[in-house]
Amino acid sequence: MDEIKTDTLCPNCGDCLYYIEYTTEIAYEGKITIHTYHCKSCYYKNVTVDRHDKENPKIIKLKVTNKNDLKTIVYRSPDAYVRIPEIDAEIAPGIASNGYITTVEGIIVSIKDKLSLMGTGEEINYLRQRIDGILSGAEEKVTIVIDDDTGKSKINSSKVEIIDK
Ligand SMILES: [Zn+2]
Repeated sequence: MDEIKTDTLCPNCGDCLYYIEYTTEIAYEGKITIHTYHCKSCYYKNVTVDRHDKENPKIIKLKVTNKNDLKTIVYRSPDAYVRIPEIDAEIAPGIASNGYITTVEGIIVSIKDKLSLMGTGEEINYLRQRIDGILSGAEEKVTIVIDDDTGKSKINSSKVEIIDK
């Protein structure tokens, strides 16, 4: 991993940035290159990731109808949107977010966690109750929709419906 001094100036303190390029293979994503610009004066850092193995953009859907579906393993790529249309919920890709391996239950719990940041209004409480109902595996059927332009995301279930975009 060679470090190269660049002419690019640090947006934070104005010193020269250093650049490191690193290529590796990781599970699910295949070959990736990580580009890092960093500043030695103020520790500013900018990281971008290139994916070499492109797949077709796709939408993956899973109907969650029982408790077993909640345990389904999900890989969400860093560029994917996750939506649950029935409760109007969406998880957007974060800035420089890493992909992660979770379960359907994990996705629903993370949506519930986000709700707690939105206060305790009547509507929020109602939504929280509905999510608890979904997590109990019986009360409400929902659909997990992963919208992924990199096509890397996976839901590990035979019930999955895959739509090419
Ligand atoms: Zn700096």
